[in-house]
Amino acid sequence: MRSDELPLSRAVVDRAALLRTDAAQERALADPATRVVLLRDGRVPVDARGGLVLTTVAQAQRAAAAGDRADGEHPWLLLGADDERAYVARRAPGDADDVADLPRRGAPSDRDVHAPASPPADPPASRAVADGDAVRWASLREVGSHLDARDAGLVATAVALDAWHERHPRCPRCGAATRVTQAGWVRACTVDGSEHYPRTDPAVIMAVVDDADRLLLAHAVAWAPGRYSTLAGFVEPGESLEHAVRREVAEETRVVVGEVTYAGSQPWPFPASLMVAFVARAVATDVRVDGVEVEHAAWFTRDELASAVVAGTVVPPSRSSIARALVEDWFGGPLPEPAAG
Ligand SMILES: [Zn+2]
Repeated sequence: MRSDELPLSRAVVDRAALLRTDAAQERALADPATRVVLLRDGRVPVDARGGLVLTTVAQAQRAAAAGDRADGEHPWLLLGADDERAYVARRAPGDADDVADLPRRGAPSDRDVHAPASPPADPPASRAVADGDAVRWASLREVGSHLDARDAGLVATAVALDAWHERHPRCPRCGAATRVTQAGWVRACTVDGSEHYPRTDPAVIMAVVDDADRLLLAHAVAWAPGRYSTLAGFVEPGESLEHAVRREVAEETRVVVGEVTYAGSQPWPFPASLMVAFVARAVATDVRVDGVEVEHAAWFTRDELASAVVAGTVVPPSRSSIARALVEDWFGGPLPEPAAG
């Protein structure tokens, strides 16, 4: 499994950390070539095919103003830059289902930003989105596997950074308000001056296999019926990744893991995870689930899993997820589709 082939791990835009200054940010916002990833409750605008719709800075300002509810500061976030333009993100507050303030597809804001430069004139704000070129808000979970490498990287970064700002308005040391600096990558305390950086919480996710090359899949208590996936869990303070793999597997299923091999990683900004994937060899295979997090877990041969997926008794993890990649890596190719009806 190659991380750079995973849906949300294929970032190609330079993150341009050297441009995280007030001056560079001002230049980017004044440049008509700059494109914006709009955000609303962790969702982004997509077209009918699930492709990301980027907007101009002026369109983003209108979208943000149209939905303004005086619910705090919505900073511009510099995502990165390529040879032609900078990419920024901006929250557009409002009702998550309201698409009236989104630009129409086909406007100069359309995703084909490599087209020959037409005048960067702002199209009139479209107050209604016509049928057939519908733009809607969609979550990264939903559309992540449809996005190309550039857009997947932009959206994963935008969603993660926006979620951090949303959850960290105050200084963790003294509780005072913080001020956004460095183009959205730092919050500084207005009282004690301490600087706070976006957080990423490592989580381990593992394909546990036994000596017969069967795969352990589990159904969590909170999940929809039939959904099965690999085991996963957060790394605790003071713990190595390998230890977290062995601990989580033992806690949730009592299966004992020996060898642990790194398999890849994927940002999972819901809200701030980095999924670190492993293949874990079981040395004791008796399954006894905890009943708290995991309701059922079982070993599958490839034939058993294929049959269960076709029959619809097992719903595999979503295509955007590294869990799916781990399962298909073990399976040896794409899983079959469920039988119709
Ligand atoms: Zn403080």
